[in-house]
Parts: sequence; structure tokens; C-alpha cells
Amino acid sequence: MDLLGNDYPYSTSALTGKHALVCGASKGIGAATAKMLAKAGADVTVCARNEEALNQLCQELKTLGSGNHHALPLDLEDTESIRTAVTDLLQQRGNVHILINNAGGPPGGPLLANTVSDFEAPFKRHLHAAHTLTQIISPGMEQEGYGRIVQIISTSVKEPIPNIGLSNTLRGAMASWAKSLSRELPPCITINNVLPGFTNTERLGSLASSINQRTGKTVEEVHDGWMSQVPIERLIEPLETASAITFLTLPASGGIRGVSLAVDGGRLRGI
Ligand code: NAD
Repeated sequence: MDLLGNDYPYSTSALTGKHALVCGASKGIGAATAKMLAKAGADVTVCARNEEALNQLCQELKTLGSGNHHALPLDLEDTESIRTAVTDLLQQRGNVHILINNAGGPPGGPLLANTVSDFEAPFKRHLHAAHTLTQIISPGMEQEGYGRIVQIISTSVKEPIPNIGLSNTLRGAMASWAKSLSRELPPCITINNVLPGFTNTERLGSLASSINQRTGKTVEEVHDGWMSQVPIERLIEPLETASAITFLTLPASGGIRGVSLAVDGGRLRGI
């Protein structure tokens, strides 16, 4: 499916005049989301640590939509830098209407082997960053009468996944944070989560390698084991996840608030 071409699912002016900030945008689901939002007409600011990758992405975004795009190099583990950089961004490029909270997942392995300090960096780049960004950005969303906040989390919110206990713990905290805010934020701001299943990005490749090192299973065996759990019998493409995220940012999605939407090919068994 050509989700940025003939099969593009939304109007190319659906988000014209909306400014989106996409975190963790240099690759994977974040980059795909930046592309879909640009195609829908949004002005997109892309954030990650790698400035060169962000500049390249901005060039690509220009070919997709009519918006103005901007790179914001930032380490999401550095709360003070987030405050300074995003306050400057709002002054220079105006209020943000759409915030996509996303960053790299924690390393895998048995939870009991994790030290307390192992929790610090992942909690900083996910929970602390999302909270700081929401505090800085949501007053402007309220002024604009339009806010859409979407977290990219994981299906482990609903069913913890074996051997990635640190990630499971963080994801539960993120989902609970978002649900709590869905009862506090002004009516014009929605907050929702998208829960990726096995998705075709570098993150999944590195998880397969770490399982290979720990268990001796080949990467192919790990992959086959994953696919045996997924009714659609294939990996999800990042643009498919981005399509669900973009849907939640549209004006027409203002009635959807506080939900966690799985894009997992049907792997979750719960109703
Ligand atoms: P990815 O690792 O491919 O991309 C993560 C992005 O976050 C990259 O742009 C990276 O540069 C950026 N990032 C990481 N640390 C950062 C930091 N300190 N500051 C700024 N940017 C930082 O991940 P992905 O596969 O696109 O997944 C996105 C999210 O969804 C992750 O949290 C991941 O764990 C989760 N997830 C992915 C899958 C999957 O199968 N790919 C499944 C479930 C959950």
C-alpha cells in the first residue's frame, strides 16, 4: 500500500495551518508520523538528537506537503534543554496544535536484573519529557482552541510482554499519566495513546538481536515466534501506525479522548 501516494487516507489540507511537534522523529514510527502530518498540510517541527537526520527529513517533508518544516535537535532526557528549546520554538514559530510524544524504548532483559538507576534515562525521555512538553505547550493549545496530544507507547500497556519488564513498567506509567490528564485538560485538547505491536523499525531489529544474544535463538526464529502471535501474519509498517496517529490529530477526532488504540495486527487477546 502506498500510504503517502495514491492510497493516502486523508485530505492533503486536513491539517493546514496546524503546527505539529513530533518527538523521536529521526527514524521509525516518529519519522513516518512526521511525513503523514506533513502530507496532511501541517507545519511540522521534528525533534530528536541527530540534527543531520532531522535536516534530511525536513527536505523530504517539503516534497510531501505545503507546510513549513523545522528541525529541533534536542535530547529528551535533558529536561532543562527541553524547557529552553521549546519556549524558544513557541516564540519563533507560534503555538503548537499537535504534540506527538515519542522516544526510543528501554533495553530488554529480565526486570529483576535492572538497577534503580536503569529506570532513570527511559523515564526521563518518555514520562518527564512528555510532562514537561505538555506543561509548556498546552496553554498555547487552549489559546488556539485546538490541541491534540498523542503518545506512542506499546501494547504492553494492556498485556506486559515477557523479558522487557522495564519497558512494561514505563509504558504503564505513561498510559496512566495520559488517562489522568484526559480528565484535566481543557475541552479543546484531546490526549490519546497509540500502542504499536511488532512494527518494521530498527527498534524491533535491536530487540531481536538482544533476544538472540540472550537465548541463542536465531533472529529468524525470534521473528517467526513473533509472527505466530499476529493474526495478520506480518509486521506492521510504520506508516500504518502513523495513519492511526494522524487520525487522532484531525479536527474530526475531537470526540476521542483518553483512549489507547492498538496498531498490532490483532495480537492483543483482550476485548
Ligand atoms: P526507534 O528506536 O526506531 O525510534 C525512536 C526515535 O526516538 C528515534 O528518532 C530516536 O533518535 C529518538 N530518540 C531516542 N532517544 C532520544 C532522546 N534521548 N532524545 C530525543 N530523541 C530520542 O523506535 P520505533 O520503533 O519508531 O518506536 C517508537 C516507540 O514505540 C518506542 O518507544 C518503541 O519502544 C515503541 N514500540 C515500538 C515497537 C516496534 O515494534 N517497533 C513495538 C512496541 C513499542
